[in-house]
Amino acid sequence: MILKKKKIQINNKKIINYDYIINTISPDTIFQNTFGKLKFIGRDLHLIVFPSKDVFPKDIFFLYYPNSEKFTRLVEYKKFTLHKSNTSLIGMEIPSKNGRYYPLPFKFEQKKAKKYFDIMPKNFYSIGRAGTYRYEVDIDDCIYQSMLIFDEIKNNKYSGPIVGNEFK
Ligand SMILES: Cc1cc2nc3c(=O)[nH]c(=O)nc-3n(C[C@H](O)[C@H](O)[C@H](O)COP(=O)(O)OP(=O)(O)OC[C@H]3O[C@@H](n4cnc5c(N)ncnc54)[C@H](O)[C@@H]3O)c2cc1C
Repeated sequence: MILKKKKIQINNKKIINYDYIINTISPDTIFQNTFGKLKFIGRDLHLIVFPSKDVFPKDIFFLYYPNSEKFTRLVEYKKFTLHKSNTSLIGMEIPSKNGRYYPLPFKFEQKKAKKYFDIMPKNFYSIGRAGTYRYEVDIDDCIYQSMLIFDEIKNNKYSGPIVGNEFK
């Protein structure tokens, strides 16, 4: 994909006009890895249904395992969804190369990501955990970034592809 002024070429073919582009996927994909592929850690997710109404104690949503276990976290989803059932689904998260979920919090990878941000044209935003290439972008931060973009568009401003000073 080649970006030029306010026209965009998709898949080396169709050229379309745009007012704003809001990207939520990894910036290397957008620019066909021009500066190299950005590294991510993935997760293998094992799902287990337990034959009991609750598995974790009341108000415990997650359990974290920072020691030598192969898994990093267990999640009881019902605690979030408030789903009523006599069984309960637990997710076990194991770090792996499966998927591009966790941007690496290393300066050299963030510098590589910045090269992509630097060539994004005006009115191009890149948000979310993958789009910002920042692990610390959680769901509430994605919503916050959307609201910042709304403010910029409403006020006819453009501060650059990454919104939120804490993520630049
Ligand atoms: C295992 C795990 C646990 C997490 N736990 C929490 C938590 O407890 N609390 C919290 O706040 N945050 C959590 N997060 C982070 C949270 O999921 C992200 O911050 C949030 O989902 C990012 O939202 P997004 O819309 O930017 O991107 P995403 O939700 O990642 O959506 C991006 C979409 O783009 C699609 N996509 C990707 N590449 C392409 C492509 N080339 N073409 C077309 N589509 C594409 C993907 O399929 C996906 O649907 C967790 C993340 C992971 C991986």
